[in-house]
Amino acid sequence: MKVATFVQTAFQQNTRIVACGDTGAAICIDPGEDSPEVAGFVSQNGLDLQALVITHGHLDHIGGTSYLKREFPDAEVLVHAEEESLYYSLPNQPLLMGIQPQQLATLGMKYDDPPRVTRNICHGEVLEVGKLRFEVRHCPGHTLGHIILVEANEKAVFTGDCLFNGTIGRTDLPGGNYDQLISSIKANVMSLPDDYTVMCGHGPDTTVGQERTSNPFLTGAYDLSTP
Ligand SMILES: [Zn+2]
Ligand SMILES: [Zn+2]
Repeated sequence: MKVATFVQTAFQQNTRIVACGDTGAAICIDPGEDSPEVAGFVSQNGLDLQALVITHGHLDHIGGTSYLKREFPDAEVLVHAEEESLYYSLPNQPLLMGIQPQQLATLGMKYDDPPRVTRNICHGEVLEVGKLRFEVRHCPGHTLGHIILVEANEKAVFTGDCLFNGTIGRTDLPGGNYDQLISSIKANVMSLPDDYTVMCGHGPDTTVGQERTSNPFLTGAYDLSTP
């Protein structure tokens, strides 16, 4: 498995191209912004971009979906059913964040409608990408239809905005729920062995073991749950 990470948008989101080292089949996880760099990377390495896999519909994770779909029209756009409404709300998301309409262009946040979702992905399904096998796990709590991807042979998990190095995703945005996020992380990430690499939607990679022993939201050091 080959992973290339591109830090994108003002939110420093990790857009990733993940490719099978044997076949060149590849996916893009969370295209953050219009990016000739990402498209060029795919082309220059002769990769076959099969899908744009969306962990969740926040603008910093989907702002580049239209651009990549135009460059690679055969790539599927894969989104969980419960995330579709957030995904399609992309043009309105900056306004909901309090950004004024006249500021959108200056801030690079003037979005058109994203491309149609070609297929919903569900909990438990396996995406085959060359010889890689990504198991989809539904992890609500940051958003309603957030998914993560687990590649067991490579001992890797792509956690989007569920789990970060040393912290967890926000739960104060629409669709967020703290208790649900903690349960999602425990059931779907902490159930993996300690030596799994965790590739997060923002910030540096970590491991399941490191988060188990030092993430204050998982060790019990911080507990914000409703009594
Ligand atoms: Zn998010
Ligand atoms: Zn994010």
